Amino acid sequence: MKIIIGAVLLVALIITGFYLWKTSRKNHRMAPSVSKMLWAGFSMVFFYEVALVAEIAKLVLFAYCAYYISVTWLLFFLLYFSLEYTGNFLEDIVRKDFMLVLLFIDSAALLWNFLSQKMFGIKVEIVFGSAIIYKPDLKDLFFVHYAFLLLIAVLCMIGLLQRFFTAPSFYRMKYFMIASIFICMMVLNFKAFDTSLDYSVLGYVVEVICIYYCAFVYTPQRLLPKTLTKVTGNMSVGILALDLEGRKIYSNRIVEEYLNPFDPLQDDMSRDLEKWCREQSKKHTDETIFEETFYKGIEPRFFKIQLQRVEDNKKQLQGCYFIIQDRTEEKNELKKKQHLATHDRLTDLYIKEHFYEQAEKYIKSHLDEELYIVCTDIKDFKMVNDFFGSRMGDAVLQNYADKIRKNKDKLITYGRLGNDNFAILMKKEDFKETYFDLTTQEAFAGSTYSEVAFQIITYAGVYQVVERDLMVSVMCGRARMALNTIKGSRTCKVAYYDNILRDNILYEQELSKDLEEAIAKEQLQMYLQPQAVADETIIGAEALIRWEHPERGTLGPDVFIPIFERNGLITEVDKYMWEAACKQLRKWKDEGKKELYISVNISPKDFYFVDVYQTFVGLLEKYQIDPKRLKLEITESAVMMDFERQRELINKLRNLGFIVEMDDFGSAYSSLNMLKDIDVDVLKLDMAFLRQTQNTERGQAILQMVIGLSKCLGIPVISEGVETVEQLQFLAGLGCDMFQGYYLGRPMDVKQFESKYL
Ligand code: C2E
Ligand code: MG
Ligand code: MG
Repeated sequence: MKIIIGAVLLVALIITGFYLWKTSRKNHRMAPSVSKMLWAGFSMVFFYEVALVAEIAKLVLFAYCAYYISVTWLLFFLLYFSLEYTGNFLEDIVRKDFMLVLLFIDSAALLWNFLSQKMFGIKVEIVFGSAIIYKPDLKDLFFVHYAFLLLIAVLCMIGLLQRFFTAPSFYRMKYFMIASIFICMMVLNFKAFDTSLDYSVLGYVVEVICIYYCAFVYTPQRLLPKTLTKVTGNMSVGILALDLEGRKIYSNRIVEEYLNPFDPLQDDMSRDLEKWCREQSKKHTDETIFEETFYKGIEPRFFKIQLQRVEDNKKQLQGCYFIIQDRTEEKNELKKKQHLATHDRLTDLYIKEHFYEQAEKYIKSHLDEELYIVCTDIKDFKMVNDFFGSRMGDAVLQNYADKIRKNKDKLITYGRLGNDNFAILMKKEDFKETYFDLTTQEAFAGSTYSEVAFQIITYAGVYQVVERDLMVSVMCGRARMALNTIKGSRTCKVAYYDNILRDNILYEQELSKDLEEAIAKEQLQMYLQPQAVADETIIGAEALIRWEHPERGTLGPDVFIPIFERNGLITEVDKYMWEAACKQLRKWKDEGKKELYISVNISPKDFYFVDVYQTFVGLLEKYQIDPKRLKLEITESAVMMDFERQRELINKLRNLGFIVEMDDFGSAYSSLNMLKDIDVDVLKLDMAFLRQTQNTERGQAILQMVIGLSKCLGIPVISEGVETVEQLQFLAGLGCDMFQGYYLGRPMDVKQFESKYL
């Protein structure tokens, strides 16, 4: 019989050991507390087994002492486990250190009992009819220990019961299990006073295993769906679950909001979304991710939708669910960012890099199309900024962008390359020169400046995409090269890049490169063309430049002046000529020659690159000449460009004593109105004026009127391009005061001029 009891206890020992081993491998918050209880349980079963099986009285006595100690520690661990596990209010009341002191005293007393037997001794008892075992023979002092044990047990019970009543309903089961086993155990323990064997040992083992189960394994059955519903309900994504037939099994709050059939606004979108999900669930056998757009009224909403399949343990399909994310805000934000990264803030056209990218893509994928790259530029845009302020400049650029956009159906792609430069890719057949010609009115549209005298001129350079391997930036470069050849022109607004043009550009570049050397080596020469009064008496000359180029021979100004006017080098040429004229006047003065005057040309660009006033003051001081001998030819277009400033400058120059002549009058604006507002000394009629008006009656009438008007204003008139005596007489008849032209003499070098006229 003893063998059977021993075997039962051995099995309990093995089970406890097994759970001890399992717990030691757990990485769980509760694992240390459960481990301690299992250790105490293990030693309890072990010593009880020794006490029952051993036959040496002393050993049995020791085993019982150790057994009681183990029981007390087990209850102590159980108490603190329940407090820790349940987070009980007792934790604050029952001081752990105080309890530990009591526990150690109790354990020491039980060990002392081994020697003194004051708490219990042992006595022999016969169980199950024949088996002889030792049983503790309890004395009064033992009940002090027992009271302590009961105290711990009661505290344990209070903790568990309090938890049982306050925990959420689905947790109660757990506390109920632990508490009821605990009560059974305590009853058995109490019963052990009357019975030969202490069956509560087995109860302890069951309790510890139960706790192991509750701590590590058990999750309440109803908790899972409830928790899942709560979790999915609060998710910021929509969850929609369908069964195999496509019927809705579950949808969370977000989906309900989309699918709410009572909201008429959402009706469209929701029906589509649900229908769509049903269709997809039938179509797709794998997990799939979609990016879809649904319409809420007319507003598009972007969704990222994930389809997930649900299978049972045997891989049988049970249904599916959709995770639906509304990405509208995100997508809009992304779009906004992308837009900002690829568009120009001011004009909302593509920025350079993005234009290049888009154009390249198109060019590479449309090999059979004839394409144009057009680059545009606004003449003297810097001046728009200077005169009207950068705000107005911005407005002009915006108006230009609008002008381009107006024909967007005909354009493939377009952008702003920077400043006032725009670029367009389009089909050759769609190209129209007028598309990019911004009128002054359009440029200043919406501003108080719409009545300005400033004339906006836009240029377009066109490159036909022939070499498709070229980078778009290079193509634009070529279009710009073409454009540069007409920059400054008033009549030509579009230029096409071709090989002739390329040669011209190279030629221009070479000439520009040679200029510095030309000035240093005095290859630039001042020619003089005589000017006379009606009786052909020479009164002065116009200084006209010639370039004795070492390789290209004598170059006339028509060859290089327009080039230098475009690239700004004209200022170098003019400063050179002004100085040459002053030097010449000084020489004549020193030599006591007839006092003729010399007219010098001032290019419009000079006003922006040099201080014209200071330069002439400097020359006056340097050469000590009479300013009346130096005539300054300012073109009509230069005056018109910045009327107020020029008027002021002209006044200042006249006050110094210079004679200011308005050159080429009649070639551009011919604003007669302007004459009354500006004080010039001489009006120089453009030779084109003469040609146009000479033959027709109407022309003659205009010429007569211009000369008459300037007479009225007291401004003397000089006419250039006089080639015949008839022309001279005709003009003289109209009242013209002075004359210049081949009839009187061609431009000639200074030596020739001196020998002929001085
Ligand atoms: P411009 O100032 O109007 O000079 C008069 C031009 O008319 C000169 O041409 C002259 O040779 C030409 N000419 C004079 N009489 C006649 C004529 O009877 N018939 C014809 N067909 N032509 C005549 P040129 O020397 O070739 O100069 C051309 C233009 O180049 C000048 O026009 C002037 O605008 C510019 N230019 C010349 N030298 C300079 C200079 O030193 N500085 C600047 N900024 N421009 C200059
Ligand atoms: Mg001139
Ligand atoms: Mg002229």
